[in-house]
Amino acid sequence: MGTNRAVSVNGRSYRWMGAPLAVVCVDGCEYDYITCAVAAGDTPFLERLMARGAAFKADCVVPSFTNPNNMSIVTGVPPSVHGICGNYFFDREAGAEVMMNDPKYLRVGTILAAFAAAGAKVAAVTAKDKLRRLLGKDLRGICFSSEKADQATLQENGIDRVLDLVGMAVPSVYSAELSEFVFAAGVALMEKIRPDLMYLSTTDYVQHKAAPGSPAANAFYRMMDRYLARLDELGITLALTADHGMNDKFGADGQPNVIYLQDVLDGWLGPAAVRVILPITDPYVVHHGALGSFATVHLPSSLEPQPLLERLARLEGVQLVLSGAEACRRFELLPERMGDVVVISDKHVVLGTSRARHDLSGLDAPLRSHGGLSEQTVPLLFSRPTAGIPGRARLRNFDAFDVALNHLEGTR
Ligand SMILES: [Zn+2]
Repeated sequence: MGTNRAVSVNGRSYRWMGAPLAVVCVDGCEYDYITCAVAAGDTPFLERLMARGAAFKADCVVPSFTNPNNMSIVTGVPPSVHGICGNYFFDREAGAEVMMNDPKYLRVGTILAAFAAAGAKVAAVTAKDKLRRLLGKDLRGICFSSEKADQATLQENGIDRVLDLVGMAVPSVYSAELSEFVFAAGVALMEKIRPDLMYLSTTDYVQHKAAPGSPAANAFYRMMDRYLARLDELGITLALTADHGMNDKFGADGQPNVIYLQDVLDGWLGPAAVRVILPITDPYVVHHGALGSFATVHLPSSLEPQPLLERLARLEGVQLVLSGAEACRRFELLPERMGDVVVISDKHVVLGTSRARHDLSGLDAPLRSHGGLSEQTVPLLFSRPTAGIPGRARLRNFDAFDVALNHLEGTR
C-alpha cells in the first residue's frame, strides 16, 4: 500500500490514500444535529468517531448554499477560483438570469477527476441530479444521482443497473430516502467495487423541516450512522463535513420572516430600477420557497451605490450590506458573477425578491433555510485523529480532502 505518490490540484497537493477514502457532505448539517443525535444515543458510531477520531468546527463558503460549497469541497479552493458562486446568477454578458449548474461555469478541475486521471478508482454519488454534472466534470469514474439512478448508463455515469446494486427503488426527490439512497449506494459501491476515493453528497430535505434534536432529525442521523458504521467496518478512512448549516427563519406566528427586497427597492427607487438576484434559486424550491439569507442586487450604472448601501444596512433584519467588490474580497467570490451590492440577513430572517414571485404554498413546515453568515459553521469530522494541521488558523469545509489525505495519524 505505502506510496509516496501525490496528486496536485489547483495549487494544493494531496498524498495518495493508504486506505480508501470516503468524503461525505451532509447537506445542511448544522453542527447541533450531530451533537443532539449523539446526546440522544441515536448515533453510536458518530459518538465513537468524535471521541477517537477528530472533530472540528469549520467555516463553509458564503453564500452558504449547496453548489458553491460542494464545488469548493471537491476542488479544494474557494469560488473566486472555481467560479460557482451560487445556484443562480445574472449573466451580465448574456443579459439573462441563468442557472449555474452547467459544468461550463466550473473553471477548474476537481480532486476527484485528478485522482481518477492518476489511476485511482473514483466514485461520486449525489442526491439531486442538479449537482451531478458539476461533480462529474471530466471524471473518468462513477458518478450518478439518487434522483436519476434508474437512468444511469455506463457511457454517461460509468455504471449501470444501479438499482440492482443498491437494492432500493428511486426515492421521491423530496424525501429523506433520497439521501438514504446515497449512503446505501456508498456502502454497496465500497462492498462490491471498492473505490479508492468516494464522494457522497446528500440533500437537505430533512434539515429544511426538522430542527436539531427533533424526532425527524434524530431519525435521519440514526439512519446515517448505520451506513457510516458499515463503511467504517469496511476499513476505509471517513471524512464528514457539510455544505452549510441551517436555521429557523420564522416568527412566533410560524410565518416566515421575509424581507422582500425587490419590493423594498421598487418602493425606494421606482419599479425595476434595480434587479435583485437570489442565488439560492434552483429547480427544487418547494421546501424553501427560494428564500435564503443572501441576496445580490444589480444596479444601473447611473445609480450611486453608497447611499443605497447605507439605507439597506438600516433595514430591520439585515445583518450585513457590502459592495459587490468588497463581498467578493471578503468571501472569495467572483465579481463577474455577483451583483453590485450584497445583502445578508439576520439568523432568523430571509430575503426574497417580490412577494408575488415566491410560491410558499409548498411549505408544509415553518421555514428553515440558509445562505447567510449565520449558517457558516459546519462540522468537519474524521475517523482518525489528526497529526497536526500546521499554519492554519481557520479550517474550511474545503480542507476536507487535505486533512484526510495529508494530516491524519498513521497509515493503514
Ligand atoms: Zn445544501
